[in-house]
This record gives sequence, structure tokens and C-alpha cells, in this order.
Amino acid sequence: MTNRTETSGMPEAGIFNIEKIRNDFPILSKTIHGKPLVYLDNAATTQKPQIVIDSLVEYYTSMNANVHRGVHHLSEVSTKAFEDSRIKIKNFLNANSDKEIIFTRGTTESINLVASSYGRANFKAGDEIVVTAMEHHSNLVPWQLIAKEKNMTIKVIPVDDNGELILNELENIFSEKTKFAAINFVSNSLGTINDVKKIIETAHQYNVPVLLDAAQAINHLPVDVQKLDCEFLAFSGHKLYGPTGIGVLYGKEKLLDAMPPFMGGGDMIARVTYNESTYNELPYKFEAGTSNIADAIGLGVAIDYVEQMGIEKIAMYENSLLEYATAQLQKLDGLKIIGTAKNKCAVISFIFDTIHPHDVGTFLDFEGIAIRTGHHCTQPLMHRFGIPATSRASFAMYNTKDEIDILINGVKKVIEVFK
Ligand code: PLP
Repeated sequence: MTNRTETSGMPEAGIFNIEKIRNDFPILSKTIHGKPLVYLDNAATTQKPQIVIDSLVEYYTSMNANVHRGVHHLSEVSTKAFEDSRIKIKNFLNANSDKEIIFTRGTTESINLVASSYGRANFKAGDEIVVTAMEHHSNLVPWQLIAKEKNMTIKVIPVDDNGELILNELENIFSEKTKFAAINFVSNSLGTINDVKKIIETAHQYNVPVLLDAAQAINHLPVDVQKLDCEFLAFSGHKLYGPTGIGVLYGKEKLLDAMPPFMGGGDMIARVTYNESTYNELPYKFEAGTSNIADAIGLGVAIDYVEQMGIEKIAMYENSLLEYATAQLQKLDGLKIIGTAKNKCAVISFIFDTIHPHDVGTFLDFEGIAIRTGHHCTQPLMHRFGIPATSRASFAMYNTKDEIDILINGVKKVIEVFK
């Protein structure tokens, strides 16, 4: 069997113990179609370390009770674990207060919360929302919904052929009419790390609040909401080695405080009569109904795991994988990389003129290699590049140079078979 932990030749491989890391993720020792799994679909979701999986079992085995409402022991224990996780997230993002950390189902729900709650309260006909040309549908469709309802316009920061935003255009895009900016931090299709700091600074010159879609940034880069000075930031637990079904909305307390609730129900109220209600304080005003308690706790454990590795070290290691994979892929006949920005992380999209991405993905699957093919929920961006889809390999801290070699060999076979 191939040794998938081979890292020789990687100058950064010594940054951490890759063999130990791989042993922490039980799924990585699986075989697929008789071949050892090479999991390169991390932008879609990351695999989970055993301690995260154990935390879910532990929760349901010894702590399960609803939070906030109980005086009994189990409720106190689960409430403490749930709120401790919120504090870990607050520290991870360097937020000012745990009131600024709202548990949601994921990035998509976080963005919908802001579009619906902030948008309904603050937008009016003729206002404009700024997005980038590389938004995931999750950071575009919610804004289209509110724009349609309020008769507003969406303005798009364009992207150049390398996959970099054309920031010279900012002064033509922002104006007195701009009332919100919803900006992709790292592109899931191109890997581009956007200069969000510059966009935020420009937006603030027009008193425009900014939401960052950090779904693809959170597991690759240090994210400090105070340094960034963004008004809102959204991410999903499952892309940060945590469980599915849990995510986070960060919002500046002053803005969240002024926003109306997104959903009504238990936990988000202070006082209820048959005709009206007053609402709970932050963050509970935005957490109607029973939260996803176990997965919120699991996300806290995932953050502990990432912090133990160190996000800077993870970034450095993943960059070495990206550089190596890019250099190898570039050598292949007829292969074109889509997304060649100077500042990139962990994602390589590629196409062939004559081979459809789905054929690439299906062929590689038989080699045990999991990549993603399609439009990656960025149809307007695919349109901008004049392509229907790409093949995308995306890396995480547990991937190795040896796995990239297997990918390259797999792609060589694809070329051979389809030429
Ligand atoms: N934004 C970006 C950039 C993404 O890559 C994704 C998922 O791939 C999302 C938003 C949506 O995340 P979720 O489906 O976890 O809500």
C-alpha cells in the first residue's frame, strides 16, 4: 500500500507531525474502490478529528439536556459546555464580547439572518448592495431576495483573468447609494485571498457596513474581527474540522442590538403576551428554538484542535502543498489553472479544453481520489470565465505531498485515456 504520510522534500513538512495529525482523523485510513482515500475536497467540507467525533458521543452519552431553561444538573452542565464553546469562538475571532457570537446552522443561515434582519430594517428602494464577482451563491442569493423585495440594485466588484478583484473599480462602485457590502474573503472556486481590509476601509468611508463571508478563510488564515473591523462575519463549523449543522455569525454588538429578530420562538423572548413580545438580550435574541447544542460544543473542540496546531503553521504548510501542486499541475499537457492570483490559499481549480470536469472527477474517484467538479455554487463566476465548470482540488492540514503525487498521476492517466 502506498505510504500516504510521505512528506520528504517538503521544506515545511517538519512544521508539525503530519503522521500524528493523519492518525487523528479516522476516515483518512479508509479505502475507496480498493484504493487508499486521497481526500482533496476540503473546500466542500473538512474531515473530523476523533476528539470532535468523541465530543458528540460524550455529549449524548453523559450531558444531553436542553440549555438555558433548566435548573437541574444536566441542563447546567450542557449550558456551561454550550456557552464555553461560544467563548472559545469569541476568543478565536478576537471578538469584543460573547454577545457578538450567534450560533446558526452555517454560513448560509448567518448571511440570510443579516440580509433579512438588517436588510428589512435598514434598506429602502434605490439603495445599493456591493458584492464581488466571486461570491458563493450563499452570499449572493440572500441579497438578491432582499434587493427584489426593496427594489434595490446589486453592484459587483469585477474580477480579472487571474482571479483577482479589480480594486481600482471600488471608487466607481461605492457611492452615497451604497448601503451594504457583502464580500467574499477567500474564493472557494479560485482560492483567491481577497484584500478585504481595503474593501472594508473603502466601505467605511461611505459609512457602509461590511459582511465577510469567511467560509473558506476560517480554516486557512488567522481571522481577527477587530483588526479587520468588519461589521459581520459568517462561517460554518464543518469547514473548520467541526460538525455539520453548526455555524457562526459574528456581528458588532451595537448593530446586532439594533436589529430586529430573524426568527421567533422559544429562547429569543423576554416577555410574551397574546399580542406582542419583547425580546431576549444578545446573543439569544437571534437563537430562536433549541440550538444545535452538541454540534456547537463539537465546534469548540474543533477550535481547540486547530489552535493546538496553530493556524499560522497550518497556513504555511498548506501553502507549501499549494505551491507544489500548482507547479506539478502546470506541467501537464492541455491543463489550465483557473485562478492564478498572487495571494491564494489551498484551492486549485483546473480545466481541459477537451475533457469535461465530471469525467476527470469520476475517473479520479476510481483511483480513490476525492476532488469536486462543477460550478462550485459560483455560476456567475464560471460565466465570467466563460466555462461551465472546473475540477477543484482543495487542501487541508492533513494532506501530504505524496497525496498530491497521486493526484498528479491520476490526472496524467485521465489525459492518457481521454486524449
Ligand atoms: N460561502 C463560501 C465561500 C463557501 O465556500 C460556502 C460553502 O462551500 C458557503 C458560503 C456556504 O457554506 P454552508 O453551505 O456551510 O452554509
